[in-house]
Amino acid sequence: MKIEFQNVIDLSYVVDEKSPRELPIDPVRIYDQATLEKDGYFESRVDMSGHCSTHIDTPCLMYPDGYTVAEIPKEKLTGHAVLMDFSAIKKPKDAVTAQDVEDWVNVNGEISRDSIVFMRTGMDRYVYQENFNQEWIGFSEGAAELLVQKGIKVIGTDACSIDSVAGHPPLHDGLPPAHLVFLGAGIPHVEDLCNLSKLPTHFYAVIAPLKLARSSGAPTRVFAFV
Ligand SMILES: [Zn+2]
Repeated sequence: MKIEFQNVIDLSYVVDEKSPRELPIDPVRIYDQATLEKDGYFESRVDMSGHCSTHIDTPCLMYPDGYTVAEIPKEKLTGHAVLMDFSAIKKPKDAVTAQDVEDWVNVNGEISRDSIVFMRTGMDRYVYQENFNQEWIGFSEGAAELLVQKGIKVIGTDACSIDSVAGHPPLHDGLPPAHLVFLGAGIPHVEDLCNLSKLPTHFYAVIAPLKLARSSGAPTRVFAFV
């Protein structure tokens, strides 16, 4: 396949102590293990959850027989991608519903099977503020079910979770339903994406998580070719 593009857009946040994260996950720590002054070379040691900064969630997060990050089928990590932008109609704490997805399709056209789908909620505007991981916007269970029916291969969001606030404790007792729906269908999610406002509706994406064994999440570099 020939891919034509003019620009490459980086959709990942810098990984540091301030990186976006879902609560109660601890912030990233980067230590100097060796320094030029003392050791003659510079080496860093990084202590982070697989779910900090721009990262991918895989089915073993919720399912005992689900695949790990190292086992993500490589066909899922590259391909045609679609941006669904709800930032003009949603505000913090809202959910994106199945009706919102239907309305988007009516205006923008059907989402083809095996698409990578990224959702812009508008939470990227609040990234280094307190409400980023307290009042975020995410999919309802019904919206997740509809996208699974459409046969998408990866889902992503600019928010800290693919579920809405209403799908997480304390508002919801039990596991977050959109996580269960997507991961149950073998669809990994990328959370904490940035720069989605710079994308057209259709583009080509490369999703490159660290190839971590025995992990349900990994920091992920994501590029859009537009
Ligand atoms: Zn995660």
